[in-house]
Amino acid sequence: MVVREQNNPTAPTSTPVPLPERTQNTTDGPGQEPTLQSKSSDESFTQPKLRLKLHDLGHPGSAKFLNAINAATVLPAAVENVLHLLYRSPSDRDTTVPPTRSVTLILRDMGGVAYTTGTDLDNDHKEIHFSLHYISSIHPASRLKDEIMGVITHELVHCYQWDAQGTCPGGLIEGIADWVRLNCNLSPPHWKRETGGDWDRGYQHTAYFLQYLESRFGEGTVRRLNDKLRRDKYKAESFWPELLGHSVDKLYGDYVEKAKDEDGDLCSQ
Ligand SMILES: [Zn+2]
Repeated sequence: MVVREQNNPTAPTSTPVPLPERTQNTTDGPGQEPTLQSKSSDESFTQPKLRLKLHDLGHPGSAKFLNAINAATVLPAAVENVLHLLYRSPSDRDTTVPPTRSVTLILRDMGGVAYTTGTDLDNDHKEIHFSLHYISSIHPASRLKDEIMGVITHELVHCYQWDAQGTCPGGLIEGIADWVRLNCNLSPPHWKRETGGDWDRGYQHTAYFLQYLESRFGEGTVRRLNDKLRRDKYKAESFWPELLGHSVDKLYGDYVEKAKDEDGDLCSQ
């Protein structure tokens, strides 16, 4: 799920005050279902022009997609969910949504799963390429709708997230996309919290770390992280201390320790 260059207008460079830590422990433990973040506002964001291109109606993936998904209703809803998780509400004074004007979902026979790109003419127009072969391979049939919407939600995040003017680590970009997917209740059954490897391995691995930060520092932490990626270029030494008051190594170490404690508690029950 490759993300290409995002559009980045010049942004102010003020430094936010690190978020205070919560004293209460509210991290989701293993086995707990992630829940959809409650919307902070009923206001609706401006929708992009949404388009659907189906390259081959004869492909078995096309029938599966059309049977599972009413694109005219679920795509705008997915955009709304992504924007509420990344930006709270249109009237929030800290909300600056990238100027994405259109998103075209292109279903075609290709390798891999999906990727998002700007168009050659204008980066404000995004294309999500989604593999018909992948869609045709989703089993069981009961997973079809959630898996399709999970992939589309992940890719829609790439249409709307900031990337520190191209300096954000790829693992953090992918982790934010899967964090949104997680919080839309669209995580696949095989996802689980894993604490091996580095914090920026990406995808669900980084998404669960972000979920920990969200529960430790409060709802809106990932939103603030995304906004900092709009304002500043990414430098690990300053980015995390300015945002959360600690280095990312310290934060990840705390996360791993807490996860091990909780997993140990589960084993001993
Ligand atoms: Zn991706």
